[in-house]
Amino acid sequence: MRISNTPAITLNTKRLRIRVRGIVQGVGFRPFIYRLAQEHSVAGWVRNTSSGVEIEAEGEHLETFLADLQTKAPRMARIADITVHELPIRGEAAFAIRQSRPEQGKHQLLSPDIATCRECVEEIFSPRDRRYRYPFTNCTHCGPRFTIIEDIPYDRPRTTMKSFRMCPDCQREYECPSDRRFHAQPNACPACGPSLSLLTCEGKPIPCGEPLTHAAQLLLEGKIVAVKGLGGFLLACDATQTGAVRTLRERKSRPAKPFAVMLAKTEQAERFCFISDAEKMLLESPQAPIVLLRSKEQTAISPEVAPALRYLGVMLPYTPLHHLLMREVNRPLVMTSGNAREEPIAVHNEEALERLSAIADCFLIHNREIRSGYDDSVYMVEEGKPRAIRRARGYAPDPIPLPFALKPILACGAEEKNTFCLTRDRYAFLSQHIGDMENALTMSRFEETIELYKKLFRIEPEIIACDMHPEYLSTLYAERLLERHPGMKRVLVQHHHAHILSCLAENGAEGPVIGVAFDGTGYGPDGTIWGGEFLIADCTGFQRAGHLEPVPMPGATAAIRKPYRMAIGYLRTFGVSDFTGLPLLDNIDPTEVGIIQQQIKRRINAPLTSSMGRLFDAVAAMCGVRGEITYEAQAAIELEMLAMQAPREERIYPFTIEEVAGCDVVRLGGLLREVASDVRNGTPPVLISGRFHRTVSEFTAEMCQRISRKTGLKRVALSGGVFQNRVLVRCLLPRLRDEGFEVFTHALVPPNDGGLSLGQAIAAHLAK
Ligand code: ZN
Ligand code: ZN
Ligand code: FE
Repeated sequence: MRISNTPAITLNTKRLRIRVRGIVQGVGFRPFIYRLAQEHSVAGWVRNTSSGVEIEAEGEHLETFLADLQTKAPRMARIADITVHELPIRGEAAFAIRQSRPEQGKHQLLSPDIATCRECVEEIFSPRDRRYRYPFTNCTHCGPRFTIIEDIPYDRPRTTMKSFRMCPDCQREYECPSDRRFHAQPNACPACGPSLSLLTCEGKPIPCGEPLTHAAQLLLEGKIVAVKGLGGFLLACDATQTGAVRTLRERKSRPAKPFAVMLAKTEQAERFCFISDAEKMLLESPQAPIVLLRSKEQTAISPEVAPALRYLGVMLPYTPLHHLLMREVNRPLVMTSGNAREEPIAVHNEEALERLSAIADCFLIHNREIRSGYDDSVYMVEEGKPRAIRRARGYAPDPIPLPFALKPILACGAEEKNTFCLTRDRYAFLSQHIGDMENALTMSRFEETIELYKKLFRIEPEIIACDMHPEYLSTLYAERLLERHPGMKRVLVQHHHAHILSCLAENGAEGPVIGVAFDGTGYGPDGTIWGGEFLIADCTGFQRAGHLEPVPMPGATAAIRKPYRMAIGYLRTFGVSDFTGLPLLDNIDPTEVGIIQQQIKRRINAPLTSSMGRLFDAVAAMCGVRGEITYEAQAAIELEMLAMQAPREERIYPFTIEEVAGCDVVRLGGLLREVASDVRNGTPPVLISGRFHRTVSEFTAEMCQRISRKTGLKRVALSGGVFQNRVLVRCLLPRLRDEGFEVFTHALVPPNDGGLSLGQAIAAHLAK
């Protein structure tokens, strides 16, 4: 496609080669350059390369052309850097978009998937439009990107759209510089693009007029429909029908873990939740994540959707298919990842039919292949800022910019909420959420995704980083890799050190800092389980400056599933063996109590832990909040929900800090004994939880002050899953800032183990 300008060579005419790097492919960048060239009467060409976009521009007004290139770039483009070289004038008259040019070894940034734009939504709801009700409508501003890409440069033949041949109408749009679909790689329409079908759970076609309308009908009847979306299958059901939600819970063996809900529009979501301006922006952003919103009481949404929680995970439709479905059902739908238990999200049609046939009543599928599986991202807003809890669709593989350039490193991440991280230059390519590794399916998804990232970003890692835990499957993967590539270097990274470095990296800081890492479990080099840690940390190493007092976990993993065991572990350690008046502990079968006591006394299967997560569990069990859990951190989360309703008061529980062998230890005997007496006196759990949260905040601040006095450090980094606790954060942050600390928190990267791989990569870079 060429247009003609009058060749006008004057004294001011110049020719420049401009190389642009960043997210400049799949976001309408070449069409934008083309239009800009027309506007400024610039001749030359533009093309995609494996490392970005290359332009040769000849004309008189190249300064303004260059300025506009940076300030007027498409909404989803992100320019990382521009280099400019002057070339001899050629006297060219036209500007063209040239064929893409693959380059050996070069890499570029790739756009994540983008939620359907306003123009495309208007088209699918306009009866006169040729894309009326077409579920795969997209344009250069929106649509699938990373989920369909097979190789770079990003062009249709290297995506899963290659099997669809554009019809003449689509081809015309694709070639017309003034069209919104000019070079939109996934461009499609009802005549030429992907289509829907509705299948029974045995995979047989369901005879019906329109699959989408029929699926909507089934949802209204209380059925569970597996819907193939952008990054994989979602399981949908009517969120207002308790029966349907319960069935989904039973079939998914997910008794209580909250489900996300999809709503058609923000205005609708406002009927069910309180939404701040920042939350609204996040909901409606091109990334369209699940946002955790304060739920209103007594709404039409079944309490079974998020039992015992005061927050609801809400997302808006992000594909035309969702928009059409939501319009059709006109009510909130539960939309949860298409998997059983902790398996990875189902991606392919046959795979979904096999894995989800016992859960879904029918399947709304399509014939566009998904190259890489993506769960929905989960975010919350705190202090007016979006904060990642699960980073996946819409965000990955957008790299995290680093404070310094890193060697090519593969960091293997954690056991739960696994992500991996590949580094190159000043970029950390943090993968999408992969899942819990103890599952064979997750393990193969992990390996596949690593290979895809290595290929797309052209990274051959020289160093492999993993957790110190000898049994983490990601650590074993690293070992196997090492056997195959003996030249590679392996670095073992302590779990909580990695947490703190991950927080530093996303804040562009290097340390040293006082690192406060609070989570459930992490391998400690001293043979105990860490999780309530105060580290003096930087990129080269760490020193354990303080921690919670270690207590036994009777039954090890059984103590995680059964917080009442943890409560007994704590109380016995502090000399309390009479549990009368503590309802959850008092009712345990005496034989089990006997076993627990033996485990503690003889140190059989009762490892010591300094975990903050376990302290929350113990207090939750003592208050009668929850004795057994069915999803991670359930007891702690429910305890937090109570604290949210606590009245303002000053009271806190007693604690002491004691120096043991150069390390400050928080002694918790006073706290636990007083919680026990509060429970016995009939103090409402809401009050106890409020006091407990304030106490944790208080001793954390005091520990930071003590360490600061010894080291002179005035910067604190907070990391670990416990910092998803809003009550704690709201209490602690102002407290630390009042003391003059500069505080680093997570935003781009999850504070939980989903962010661990980033920190591992940083630690591995400078490791000896
Ligand atoms: Zn669009
Ligand atoms: Zn078409
Ligand atoms: Fe952790």
